[in-house]
Amino acid sequence: MITSFHPPIRTLMGPGPSDVHPRVLAALARPTIGHLDPMFITMMDEIKTLLQYAFQTKNNLTLPISAPASAGMETCFANLVEPNDKVIICKNGVFGERMKENVQRCGGQAIMIEHAWGLPVDPNRLEDALKNHSDAKIVAFVHAETSTGASSDAETLVKLAHQYDCLSIVDAVTSLGGSPLKVDEWEIDAVYSGTQKCLSCTPGLSPVSFSEIAVTKIKNRCQKVQSWFLDFNLILGYWGSHQKRSYHHTAPINALYGLHEALIMLQQEGLEMAWQRHQRHHFALKAGLEAMGLSLLVEESARLPQLNAVTIPNNVDDALVRQKLLNQFHLEIGAGLGELAGKIWRIGLMGYASRQENVLFCLAALESVLLELKADIQAGVAIPAAMSTLQ
Ligand SMILES: *Cc1c(COP(=O)(O)O)cnc(C)c1O
Repeated sequence: MITSFHPPIRTLMGPGPSDVHPRVLAALARPTIGHLDPMFITMMDEIKTLLQYAFQTKNNLTLPISAPASAGMETCFANLVEPNDKVIICKNGVFGERMKENVQRCGGQAIMIEHAWGLPVDPNRLEDALKNHSDAKIVAFVHAETSTGASSDAETLVKLAHQYDCLSIVDAVTSLGGSPLKVDEWEIDAVYSGTQKCLSCTPGLSPVSFSEIAVTKIKNRCQKVQSWFLDFNLILGYWGSHQKRSYHHTAPINALYGLHEALIMLQQEGLEMAWQRHQRHHFALKAGLEAMGLSLLVEESARLPQLNAVTIPNNVDDALVRQKLLNQFHLEIGAGLGELAGKIWRIGLMGYASRQENVLFCLAALESVLLELKADIQAGVAIPAAMSTLQ
């Protein structure tokens, strides 16, 4: 007989999902009400306000798409790309490749600027591409590339796009709540994120925000958006103005309770404080790893605090280490993807997982497993090194 599922309690320090805050888990279990109930609609309005704070924007079109971050990505491309539009994609990891798929499926033409994995996007190479493709309409890139741990200079890249009359689509799935992201100040046109990375929330929702210019472009499309579900012209009837809500789809009601709670916690902590917390724990983890003799993949100036790509030492069995961490310590860290598979581990310090005790626990667990496997590392120095940065 199949019985109720009771998952083990893990510590989630991979590329997402990350640890969910107990307050969010509690909010998810509150009573379900109707999605057109006036009290629910008031909560939807609050989510919008809280998301505007998290994104640092006044954009009216700011809301969570009822689906994972990949759907947020698709929402941006489906609404902004029209058939035959040229889109320049700066690719420096897994997610740029998905952007290409999105553009092509919208009937657009993707111009790829390929970067080696682990590097940030090079603004000079974007400028060259913009000069060579003066008919390009959109520039798209990933702000925080979770597959490699590299952070790109979103402000500079968006400025360049505008100089050449392009709109910008920015993937901020891993940056939102974890490192500085200023949608209005940087003049980002369309941005999407996820709830399971640095917001301490469960997966399954995708906050997005569109500027007035982007909204105008959507309203003036020659052809209908090819996706019915993701068409903003229809979604706006549901999320748009306060009173007149019409049925579009049934919102994931309890999931939105969770997001509401997560965003309240972000507001209570303060964005700047959240960014600092991610930075502080990154420094502690880095100090511990380096004391042990391990090194980080990404150059210091482009390192994401919330995603640490650690080079796997020679002769160490990648999968065996991760398996032992999971079985002996209930600790999940991430594997490398694509060309970095087998070469790096990805240690996430995202949202509620970005805590001092997690840093110390991860260092102790990794040291224990690596010593058991006779890896050539320094024993007994990681925790003191991490502690010394935390005082
Ligand atoms: C996790 C992630 C996504 C996809 O998120 P899902 O919720 O799995 O769809 C997209 N882009 C980046 C940079 C991510 O880290």
